[in-house]
Amino acid sequence: MISTKGYATHDANAKFGPFEFERRDVGPNDILIDIEYCGICHSDIHAAKNEWEAMMPSTYPLVPGHEIVGRVSQVGDAVTKFKVGDVAGIGCFVDSCRECSPCENGTEQFCQKMAAFTYAGTYMDRVTPTYGGYSDKYVIDERYAHNVRATGDLAGVAPLLCAGITTYSPLKRFKVGPGQKVGVVGLGGLGHMAVKIAKAMGAEVTIFSTSPSKESDAEALGADHFVVTRDPANLAPLAGTFNFILDTVSADHDLNQYFGLLGVGGTMAVVGVPPNPTQIHQFGLIFGNKTLAGSLIGGIPETQEMLDFCAEHNITADVEVITPDRIEEAYDRTLRSDVRYRFVIDMTN
Ligand code: NAP
Ligand code: ZN
Repeated sequence: MISTKGYATHDANAKFGPFEFERRDVGPNDILIDIEYCGICHSDIHAAKNEWEAMMPSTYPLVPGHEIVGRVSQVGDAVTKFKVGDVAGIGCFVDSCRECSPCENGTEQFCQKMAAFTYAGTYMDRVTPTYGGYSDKYVIDERYAHNVRATGDLAGVAPLLCAGITTYSPLKRFKVGPGQKVGVVGLGGLGHMAVKIAKAMGAEVTIFSTSPSKESDAEALGADHFVVTRDPANLAPLAGTFNFILDTVSADHDLNQYFGLLGVGGTMAVVGVPPNPTQIHQFGLIFGNKTLAGSLIGGIPETQEMLDFCAEHNITADVEVITPDRIEEAYDRTLRSDVRYRFVIDMTN
């Protein structure tokens, strides 16, 4: 077994502290990654605080982290995709049954036996707990790891493994491109990646934000327009003008006000997972044949495609790199929407 140092929380109200555990030995198809950076996704916060208890209760000790990049330091005898020294990434799951139709189709996140999520889940033996990337090492079957070709700032690459794919996948699925008006609701980790990716796909992008202070960043991120949603009067002139809206908001909020902004046949996709269910009024969708869709991360092939797309378009996340002793502070600031635009933990520190 491989002794690993991480940071864990032990219940919904506890603080993070050092936690040592073991990873499996490197098998023939496995690689060992020495983790350099791990992003802090708002899902880590929902899980640490057990905010999804009704649907997905958290298990403790919890070592979050599913935006992982590092260097390969050991490879099994049968490994073909990686060699020692390569940069590798790990996203939101680390195994799946490999036999069901979602697994065969490259949408392993929907594995019918339930994928082994990178943390707070179990491996496919359904016994061994998974611990995430707030740690110094990960052992993973090469099939579930990604080649990272980017050479520059690796801290900015880590968030692509969740925030990047979670926004790329619905933008691609709903064929966002030139001539289209796209709205992004919530300018946090996911939201800022959505802006960069939708712009690279050629769309005209509007940010819907509750934070007027973020307006000065909108242009630098590539956005065409910035709308403060606290005043509903700002939304009225935009009625019926959007082809696609992506909702990335982490807190309970009203979805209905956005249906009216879609044109006929428009689609709104939700990726944010607030703690509580929300009410929608069917009228808002029926008038105009509108679609409300959901989207969960992306499969292994699409995640690799997104990494290659981002490398080609020079897209990385805007990050604030912290040491592991500042996890609590980063959580507090993320909860106050004071994140510009992703906290990333330097795990070599
Ligand atoms: P984040 O960095 O905290 O960003 C969320 C943003 O939502 C905030 O920056 C803020 O933007 C906005 N917001 C916060 N409170 C709000 C409120 N009360 N009303 C309206 N807007 C509010 O979080 P994230 O890491 O991007 O994650 C966003 C959500 O996506 C989380 O729920 C996370 O669990 C979920 N997620 C889903 C998937 C998936 O596969 N579907 C994958 C990853 C994450 P403004 O300041 O601009 O308003
Ligand atoms: Zn995430």
